Amino acid sequence: MSMRVLICGGGVIGASIAYFLSHRGVEVTVIERTGLACAASGKSGGFLAFDWCDGTRLEGLARRSFALHGRLAQEVGDDWNYRRVTTYGGSMGLRRHAGVHGLDWLSAGVSVDRILGSAETTAQVHPGKFTAAMMRAAQADGAELRIGQVTGVTRRGPGVGGVEVDGETIEGDAVVIAMGPWSILATQWLPLPAIYGLKGHSLVFDTGTKVPPEALFLEALEATGAVQSPEIFPRSDGTTYVCAISSESPLPVDPAEVGADAGAIERLERMCREMSPALVPEKILARQACYRPVTRDGLPLIGQVPGVDGAYVAIGHSVWGILNAPATGEAMAELIADGAARSVDLSPFDPGRSPPFDPARLRKG
Ligand SMILES: Cc1cc2nc3c(=O)[nH]c(=O)nc-3n(C[C@H](O)[C@H](O)[C@H](O)COP(=O)(O)OP(=O)(O)OC[C@H]3O[C@@H](n4cnc5c(N)ncnc54)[C@H](O)[C@@H]3O)c2cc1C
Repeated sequence: MSMRVLICGGGVIGASIAYFLSHRGVEVTVIERTGLACAASGKSGGFLAFDWCDGTRLEGLARRSFALHGRLAQEVGDDWNYRRVTTYGGSMGLRRHAGVHGLDWLSAGVSVDRILGSAETTAQVHPGKFTAAMMRAAQADGAELRIGQVTGVTRRGPGVGGVEVDGETIEGDAVVIAMGPWSILATQWLPLPAIYGLKGHSLVFDTGTKVPPEALFLEALEATGAVQSPEIFPRSDGTTYVCAISSESPLPVDPAEVGADAGAIERLERMCREMSPALVPEKILARQACYRPVTRDGLPLIGQVPGVDGAYVAIGHSVWGILNAPATGEAMAELIADGAARSVDLSPFDPGRSPPFDPARLRKG
C-alpha cells in the first residue's frame, strides 16, 4: 500500500526527512510557509563536527550525521560547498597567548591558541544550499514542495487525516511537524512538549577565496565589556560567515518578520572590523538574524507523537541542526516507512518524555 507523508516546514530537518523518504519511494509533500531554508536553516553557520557531542545523548546522532554529510556530498550530484576544515580556538581583546598558529588573515589583536578540530573531525556546508539540494534531490524522486501556511492537523479516527493549508485540507497518512521554533503553534493541533526560539545574529562577507579553510571559535571582549563568542566560517564560495550575539527576544509568528535586535548588527560589525581587515563593512553581503529551535531539556524531539497514529515530530536541534539533519532524516524515514529506526537510537529524543505544552498559554501571550 502506498503511503503519503506530509512534512510541515521546509527547513533543513523537513528537507532531509523528505530526501530519505522519497529515496525509498514514499510519496512526500513538504509544506513551507515562507520559503525553503528561509529561517535558521539558511542563516546558520553550517559547521559540522564528528565528535563534539561525544559523551552526550547526541553522540550517536552526531557521529552518524557527520558520516552521512560526507557521503551525501559525494553521492548527490549537487554542490553545497561541503568541505573539511581545520578548526581553531582563540580570543580577541582578552589575554594574549603565544599562538599555535598565525592565521595571517586575522588582525594582530586576535590570538589563536588551540586546535579544536582537524580535517578528519570538522567540516562545513553552506546550510541554505544544502537544504535546497536535499529538497531538489527529493523532488527528483517525486517529492512535492508546496508554499503555504499549515494552520492545523485534521484527524481520522485515532490518527491523523491530513493538514490544513490556506483553508484547504491536504490528505495524508502521516504528518511530520518540522517547523523549527514555530512548532510551538503545533501544540494547538497535537500533544507536543514546548519548543522555544533562541535568537542569534550573523553577517556574511565577500572575502574571496584567499581566506583559508579554517574555522574559528573566539572569545571576544566588546567595547561594552561584554564577552561574546563569535564563530567565523570562511566558505568555499568566497564568502565568510560570522555569527555572535544571542538574545531571548520573542519569536514573531511570521518567519518573514524575523529581524535583528536594535544595535546588534552594529556591535557585530564592530567586532568583525577588529577581527580582520577582510571583514570590513564594505564587504558585507548579508546582515541577518535567526532562531535556534530549543527544547526545555536541550535535546531534540524526534519520533512519534504519543497517542496519535501517524503523527511525528522532528524539532529542537538547537545549535546542531545542520549537523544532525541527515541522521534525523534517515532515522525518521525508517521510523515512518518501517515502523522503527535502525540507523540510530532515537529513544533519548522520545517526544513523550516531557508533558505536552498547554496551548492556552499561547493565547494568554
Ligand atoms: C546563528 C546560528 C548559527 C548556527 N550555526 C550552526 C552550525 O554551525 N551548525 C549546525 O549544525 N547548526 C547551526 N545552527 C542551528 C541550525 O541552524 C538549526 O538547528 C536548524 O537550522 C533548525 O532547522 P529546522 O528545520 O528544525 O528549523 P527552521 O530552519 O527554523 O525551519 C522551520 C521552517 O518551518 C517553516 N514554518 C514555520 N511556520 C510554518 C507553518 N505554519 N507552515 C509551514 N511552514 C512553517 C519556517 O518558515 C521555516 O522554514 C545555528 C543556528 C543559528 C541561529
